Amino acid sequence: VDANVVPIVEDNQHLSGVILVLHDITDIRHLEALRSEFVSNVSHELKTPVTSIKGFAETLLDGAMADADLRKEFLEIIRDESNRLTRLIEDILQLSKIEQHQIKPHYSEVDLVNVLTNVLKVLRKAIVEKNVTIELQLPQSLVLTSEADGLHQIALNLISNAITYTPNDGCVTIHAHKKGTEITLQVADTGIGIPAADQTRIFERFYRVHKARERETGGTGLGLSIVKHLVERYQGRIALDSIEDEGTTFTVTLPCEHID
Ligand code: ADP
Repeated sequence: VDANVVPIVEDNQHLSGVILVLHDITDIRHLEALRSEFVSNVSHELKTPVTSIKGFAETLLDGAMADADLRKEFLEIIRDESNRLTRLIEDILQLSKIEQHQIKPHYSEVDLVNVLTNVLKVLRKAIVEKNVTIELQLPQSLVLTSEADGLHQIALNLISNAITYTPNDGCVTIHAHKKGTEITLQVADTGIGIPAADQTRIFERFYRVHKARERETGGTGLGLSIVKHLVERYQGRIALDSIEDEGTTFTVTLPCEHID
């Protein structure tokens, strides 16, 4: 609580009392704490790849360059860490853009089935590498008023997570349907699952179930946070259902109609 003291002074300059004005600043404090936590997380996440790039470049300059195998290995690490840095910066920028609520969504008619087809094209390499079976349960078309880029991002993040957190030869099922005034998109995998204790936290920025292991996958820890923000931007809902070592299902429900 924040307090302002306003003195009440009478004509004869005598203090006759004070008015105490109390402001409840719990929300503001909470927002400030979240913001500074985010800034320190961002700094930490950005520093990690930079430190590694710097370290490997120095080792190369200190002599490792002479060994052809080492040289290749270290340069590959430098390239991968640079890519990671790029993804982090892109995700952070995207998140801050969505969070600026003053930028209103630009709605147009989008076919979710087209969006999903495009997303699967982007993910083709990962799908082939892990030998994941993609099962599609989709109608011919599913038109809704929304933002094509935002829908692409939601589907991309959910489906790429489903592939990432599913062992080789697993299965990812993509289901979508329209019911009444809503469209439901479901992405289900046969992967590692999410422990009950973590399920409420995975939408937080940078939250990961297994911190070290998940960094190996090349993720930024921001994917689900972006999904949640986008779904809220479109006044939809997101839910998840998961059993450890069995699999996870994310369900996104979006209203079909929006007026720009
Ligand atoms: P990341 O870039 O680490 O994947 P996300 O925000 O996309 O970050 O996801 C946050 C965390 O939630 C992941 O690190 C992982 O622990 C967990 N997670 C997300 N999707 C799945 C899934 N389909 N199966 C199991 N765990 C998942």
